[in-house]
Amino acid sequence: MSKVRVRFAPSPTGGLHLGGVRTVLYNYLFARHHGGDFILRIEDTDQNRYVEGAEQYIVDCLQWCGLTPDESPQKGGPHAPYRQSERKNLYHQYAKQLIDSGHAYYAFDTTEELEKMRHDLKRPDNTNPQYDHTTRMHMRNSLSLDPHDVNELLANGIPYVVRIKMPENVTLLFTDMIRGEISFDTSLVDDKVLLKADGMPTYHLAVVVDDYLMKITHAFRGEEWLPSAPVHILLWEYLGWKHHMPQWAHLPLILKPDGNGKLSKRDGDRLGFPVFAMNWTDPRTNETTSGFREMGFLPQAFVNMLAMLGWNPGTEQELFSMDELIHKFSIERVHKGGAKFDFEKAKWFNHQYIQHTDDATLTQLAKPYIEAQGVKVSDDHLQKIVALIKDRCTLIPDFWQQGHFFFTTPQNFDISPIKEKWNDQKKAFFTSWINSLNEITEWNQEIPEQHFNKLLETNGLKKGDVLLPLRIMLVGGKYGPGVFHIADMIGKQETILRVNNVLSQL
Ligand code: GLU
Repeated sequence: MSKVRVRFAPSPTGGLHLGGVRTVLYNYLFARHHGGDFILRIEDTDQNRYVEGAEQYIVDCLQWCGLTPDESPQKGGPHAPYRQSERKNLYHQYAKQLIDSGHAYYAFDTTEELEKMRHDLKRPDNTNPQYDHTTRMHMRNSLSLDPHDVNELLANGIPYVVRIKMPENVTLLFTDMIRGEISFDTSLVDDKVLLKADGMPTYHLAVVVDDYLMKITHAFRGEEWLPSAPVHILLWEYLGWKHHMPQWAHLPLILKPDGNGKLSKRDGDRLGFPVFAMNWTDPRTNETTSGFREMGFLPQAFVNMLAMLGWNPGTEQELFSMDELIHKFSIERVHKGGAKFDFEKAKWFNHQYIQHTDDATLTQLAKPYIEAQGVKVSDDHLQKIVALIKDRCTLIPDFWQQGHFFFTTPQNFDISPIKEKWNDQKKAFFTSWINSLNEITEWNQEIPEQHFNKLLETNGLKKGDVLLPLRIMLVGGKYGPGVFHIADMIGKQETILRVNNVLSQL
């Protein structure tokens, strides 16, 4: 068997949807599993949909996820260029070959003529007439026109497109690696444009030519491409490459969490989660769509979550390192049906990964979010805090939410949970505690706690009576790690200050 070669072939039209990242991931895992090559090919032949910056953004997303291609526009490779717009001239000979062999034809119809056809040929039993075997002879093309006229039109530089001539009543069969045997009736498929009036190929021609020239062995793409498969199968055949056609797998959609249908950017906005890998700012509107990276996901967690969204290893295991995924992944275990996206589950993965990430790494990840609050902190100090609160953090910005009181004095205290049971006895206890703290010079986690415990007896209180008040004094609310850890980290003066702040309010 020839060396496995797979490709991710995005069109640079905007942000990278998590479904796109999952396609990258499955390609990558498959390539690594089989010791093959993973190629990034930029399909930018549709000039109307091209968006500045989208290619670089895709490259950055792949890098963030650790899914770096072996060949790409940036890296080059034996089949360069990897950007289809730079391969423009290469496609013409294949279009010509298809015309010469009678499998494609020139079509000169203007936009108005196409519209007129759609209007005039509309019937109750055919509400959406296509350019196909039933209509093509009513149109202006090299099949319907006199050859002499065709030559004249071509000689005069009249704009044309090249269309595939879909045969009538042919059943095409192919085996999808996920879906099994699939058949198509060619009569239902229109004569797709292969080469556009601007000389650029469409996706249909370019994908076949490039998959052939780049020696792609397996092509994984979204299931929305399934209806195009008959066109591609015929092109492989007509171009004489039938035996080189890659094995296809059409990947299931990622579905919205509620209801049916594909998860869209709008669902994310509506339900408050990102659908793009990283923040994406559309240069045309300046509108920014949020991404998993900026929301505080670790790339490893994001990738693990995506792996499980449509694939399962056949066991209960959910957490996988990249090496394990490479080892266990098989395309046959990808589900046929769509997978519902579950943001809570995504967060669960991230929480798990935070727990398994070492404190020094987490410190570097959390630091920008802490500094963004105007706080200066040494790595050493921050790392101690990170160790104390990581089990409470699901997303990286949580290191601020769960730890702000280590850096700044709380301004607001929610005293409602302690107000009712507050009494003079407790007040006396806290007053004597801070007095005793004032007298000591040494400070660590044990010392304030020893003084605290000692004074409980003297004041006839139980620890449970005063721990919550202490927490609210130090933190401002009912959360955070152990109170004496907090006291240790913020220091004596600050501990005393915070106790006094609340005593004066009670
Ligand atoms: N350019 C296509 C897309 O953006 C690629 C589909 C394929 O992988 O063949 O979806």
